[in-house]
Amino acid sequence: MFIGLRRTKRYPNTMLTNIPGYPRVGSQRALKKACENYWAGKISLERLELTARELRRENWELLKEKGIDLIPSNDFSFYDQVLDMSMTLGVIPSRFQALQASLAHPRCLELYFAMARGYQKNNFDLTALEMTKWFDTNYHYLVPEFEKTQSYHLYQPKCVEEFKEARQLGIHTKPVLVGPVTFILSGKIKDDQLTQAEVLQKLLPVYIQLLQELKRAGATWVQIDEPALVTDLGQAVKELYHTAFTVIRQAVPELKILLTTYFGGLEDNTALTVQLPVAAVHIDLVRAPQQLDEVLALLPNDKQLSLGVVDGRNIWKNDYEASLALINKAIRHLGKERVIIGTSCSLLHSPYDLDLETELNPDVKQWMAFAKQKVGEVIALSDVIEGETWLLEENRKAMESRKTSPIIHKPAVKARLKEVTEKDMQRNSPFAVRQAIQHESLRLPLFPTTTIGSFPQTKEIRQLRADLKKGIISEETYRAEIREAITDTIYRQESLGLDVLVHGEFERNDMVEYFGEQLDGFLFTQYGWVQSYGSRCVKPPVIFGDVQRPQAMTVNWSKYAQSLTDKPVKGMLTGPITILQWSFVRNDQPRMDTAFQIALAIRDEVKELEEAGITVIQVDEPALREGLPLRQSARAEYLEKAVQAFRLAVCTVDDNTQIHTHMCYAEFNDIIEHIAAMDADVITIETSRSQMEILEAFAAFKYPNETGPGVYDIHSPRVPSVAEMETLLKKAVQLLPVQNIWVNPDCGLKTRNWPETESALRNMVTAAKNLRSSY
Ligand code: GLN
Ligand code: ZN
Repeated sequence: MFIGLRRTKRYPNTMLTNIPGYPRVGSQRALKKACENYWAGKISLERLELTARELRRENWELLKEKGIDLIPSNDFSFYDQVLDMSMTLGVIPSRFQALQASLAHPRCLELYFAMARGYQKNNFDLTALEMTKWFDTNYHYLVPEFEKTQSYHLYQPKCVEEFKEARQLGIHTKPVLVGPVTFILSGKIKDDQLTQAEVLQKLLPVYIQLLQELKRAGATWVQIDEPALVTDLGQAVKELYHTAFTVIRQAVPELKILLTTYFGGLEDNTALTVQLPVAAVHIDLVRAPQQLDEVLALLPNDKQLSLGVVDGRNIWKNDYEASLALINKAIRHLGKERVIIGTSCSLLHSPYDLDLETELNPDVKQWMAFAKQKVGEVIALSDVIEGETWLLEENRKAMESRKTSPIIHKPAVKARLKEVTEKDMQRNSPFAVRQAIQHESLRLPLFPTTTIGSFPQTKEIRQLRADLKKGIISEETYRAEIREAITDTIYRQESLGLDVLVHGEFERNDMVEYFGEQLDGFLFTQYGWVQSYGSRCVKPPVIFGDVQRPQAMTVNWSKYAQSLTDKPVKGMLTGPITILQWSFVRNDQPRMDTAFQIALAIRDEVKELEEAGITVIQVDEPALREGLPLRQSARAEYLEKAVQAFRLAVCTVDDNTQIHTHMCYAEFNDIIEHIAAMDADVITIETSRSQMEILEAFAAFKYPNETGPGVYDIHSPRVPSVAEMETLLKKAVQLLPVQNIWVNPDCGLKTRNWPETESALRNMVTAAKNLRSSY
C-alpha cells in the first residue's frame, strides 16, 4: 500500500492540498484519559498541557510528512472548538463572571472546564453551557450564550498561541476559526432586545484583532468555517455574511481567508458565498458533488476553489475515478493554480488510523480509510493529476471488488426488499379498532405504568460482560447471571406494582451495538473512536454489506422474562433509523435502502417475539429526529422514508399485539404528523423537563394514539415526589384523552442506581393510582 508512505516527489506548480481539521483525542484516546485524570485531580495542569502539546505535534508532523500544504492549527481543543471560540472572544455568560474574577490566573483552564462541565466548588454552583449537536453530526458542541450586558475582547488567543507553537516546530499552519456568522447562529441570544446584527457588531472587532495578531505572528492562510452556508438562510443572515466578510477584508487584506463550508451544498447561497471577499472557498463535494457546476460558473476570477473530495464523515476509501472527474473538471475551468483539494470537512468526524486495526476482515479493510489514510488519499489524488497514474490501479481494484463481493451483496436480501409493498407497512386494522382489541386482551388499568426498558447497569452487570469478553467466564455462566438479573428485576417491578414490565436490557452494552453484533453486514473496529462530546468518544459500528438476521436476537431473554410473571413483559428492540444514525453507513447504496434492510431484520424479530407470546413490543427510535436533513427541502422525503422503515419493522403483528415506540427529546412541533404516521399504539416521550409543554403539539394535532409523557427526569439522581408527578399528569389530562395516557419515566434507567430507581418508581406508581381514583 502506498497510501501510508511519505510523498517522494514535490511537483512544482501543483494544486495545494488542504485538511480542514484533524482528530484530536489521540489514536489511543490520550486526551480523553488526560482530561479525565486532570478533572479527578490525579494529574497536574502541566501534565495535561504536555499531553495536548504532544498530540498537536504528532498531528502537525504527520500532515507535514505526508506533504499537506494547508495544515490546520487551532483544530485542537480540550473540549470543544465552539467553546474555544467563546473563550477566545470572551463570550462568557454573566453567571460565570464571579468565578472568572476569583481565579488567580485568568487564562487558566478552570473557567473553561467550568463552562463545559458546570462548577460546584468554593461556594459556586454554576450550570454548564447547554450542549447540542453540531449540524447533522453526532458531535456535540457547547452553545455560546449572548447577553446584552456582555462586552467582548480577545480573552484567550489560543489560536495565536497554537500557530506559534507549530511555527517553533518548523511547521507553517493554517489557523482554523469558527466563523462569526456560524458562531452566532450556533449560539443562543439570551435577551429579547438583542439582535444577531448587534452581536455581530460587538464580535467583529474581536475577530479582527485576532486576525491581525495571527498576521503579525506570520500566518498567511486562515480558515474560517461557515458551515451555516449550507443551510436555509434568511435575508437578514445573508446580510450578516456581507458585513462580516467585507469588514474582515478591509481590516486584514493581506490575509488569505479560506472560507470553508461543509456538510452539504451551497444551493441558493452559492452566489452569496462565492462573492464574499475572500481568497478561496471550500465546498463539500462528497455530500453535494452536483454543486460543482454552479460554483464553477459563478466563481469570480480572483478566487481559488478548495474541493472537498475525500469524505471526512465516513470510513470508506475514496473512489479516485469519481474524485478525479470532479478535480479535472475544476482544473479545466480554473487552471491548476486555482484548485485546492482536500477532505470534505474536518477529519474530527473520522477515526484515527486504520493501520491500528488488526482484527478486521481484510476484505472489508481494503475498502476502508480512516483519517490518516484519507490524508494519504488527498496526496495520492494530487499525484495522479501530476501523472502518477499507476496509483489508480490498486484503488480501481478495491472499488471493483466492492461492487461484486459476496460478503457485501446478498441477492436474497435485495430480492426481499424489492418485494416489499405498501401492505407490509400497514397494520391489519386502524388504531381505533386495535385499541379496543388491546384493551380487551391486555386488561390494563387507566393510566397504565411502565418503564422505557433499561434498569440500572450496575458495576456487576458490566463486569459480567467484560468477563465474558475476556473469556474469564463461560457463555453459560454469563447467561445464568443475566437470567438472575432479569428474575430479580421482574420481581422488583411486580412488587412496585408496575403494569407493563420489561426485562431490563442487562445483556446490552449499547442499544445499537447489541443488534449490530448479531446482524450480518455489520462489523466492529478496535480503535474506531470518534469524539462525541468533551472526553466522550463513541465507536460506531460499520455497516458494510446487506443486512440480514441469521437468528433471533432477543427472543430468549424476553421469553424467559415473560415466563416469570402474569403481567405483560415488553419486548425491546432498537429501530432501523436509530441503528442507521449511530453507525458508519455504507456509501454504495442510498442510506434509506440500508435502513429498509435493517427494518426487515427487525421485522423478523418482532414476528418471532409475537410468536413466542410477547404481547407488547417496543421499537425505540430515539435518533429519528436527529436524522433530519439540514435543508427544509429534503426533510419531507426523509421523514416519509423514516416512517416507512419503522412501519416495515413493526407492521407484521396482529391487532392484539401492542406496538410501542420511544423517543427521547422534546421537540415534536414540526414532525408531529410524521410521528402520527408511524402509527405506534403507544409512544413514550421525554416531557418532564419541559413541564409537559411539548404535549401541546400532540394536543393541537389531536394525536390519536396512546402516549406516555415522561413524568420524571432520569438524567438526575433526584427522586421526584408523588405530588409533582401527579401535577404533571394532571397537565397531561388537560391535553390528551384520559384513556390514552401512560405513566412512565422520561427514558431508560440504565445510568441510575437501584435505590433511587425504586424510590422514584414507587412514587410514580402511587401518583398513577391516585389519579385513577379520580377518573
Ligand atoms: N430502551 C432504551 C433504554 O431504556 C431506550 C434508550 C434511549 O431512548 N436512548 O435504555
Ligand atoms: Zn430515551
